[in-house]
Amino acid sequence: MTTDPNCLFCRIVAGEIPATVVREDAATVAFRDINPQAPTHVVVVPREHYADAGMLASSDPTLAGAVMAAAADVASSEGIAEGYRLVFNTGPDAGQTVLHVHCHVLGGRTMTWPPG
Ligand code: AMP
Ligand code: ZN
Repeated sequence: MTTDPNCLFCRIVAGEIPATVVREDAATVAFRDINPQAPTHVVVVPREHYADAGMLASSDPTLAGAVMAAAADVASSEGIAEGYRLVFNTGPDAGQTVLHVHCHVLGGRTMTWPPG
């Protein structure tokens, strides 16, 4: 499994940096975002390091599906299954700041569209 010792989210997965983990399984870890943008804001990451959603989807679509399934499970356990948003910021123009693919699970308030 590929990991990057300098990657923030690889280090959270490894337990080297603390995070509030709300769900984990063999392939994914979900933890609360340190700067929440909604009452519920959890990020779901694969344990393996991929830079972004496109790299993950093209390299391991099964793992991409596991991330999305974990995100939906988090939405249920957080009590927001009636309405939530999944976001994969991908690339600098989208504001991606951590280059380890992650799915934002956002909910607990009315989610506006378009997002801006
Ligand atoms: P993005 O801008 O899509 O790359 O999202 C990165 C997210 O990681 C941001 O929402 C940050 O608030 C979040 N983040 C950064 N550092 C941490 C951390 N140590 N624990 C939890 N979330 C973090
Ligand atoms: Zn990583």
